[in-house]
Amino acid sequence: MYDVNCPYCGAEIEICHDDGFGCEEDITYQQECPKCENGFVFTTSISIDHQAYPADCLNGAPHDYNPVITFPKEYSKMRCTMCDEERTPTIEEMASIMK
Ligand SMILES: [Zn+2]
Ligand SMILES: [Zn+2]
Repeated sequence: MYDVNCPYCGAEIEICHDDGFGCEEDITYQQECPKCENGFVFTTSISIDHQAYPADCLNGAPHDYNPVITFPKEYSKMRCTMCDEERTPTIEEMASIMK
């Protein structure tokens, strides 16, 4: 899972992570490509994987709440499809959930 591709020749390089080398986040590690012998650096992200999506509701647009049906249905929530904010359903929404 620590393997990288050489940014120069594209070779797949297995990062030797003995002694924790290459395992720490926010550190720039130096590595030499065994194939083209160019030095390059790499950083590590272990489990944090950021994906950015637009969330109009954080910029003045209304939240796009969709019901998240649980069982029992009385505990269903409304969750915004954009920002994942949850709130309890209104009486009308709960009525349609209970249908
Ligand atoms: Zn290379
Ligand atoms: Zn939202």
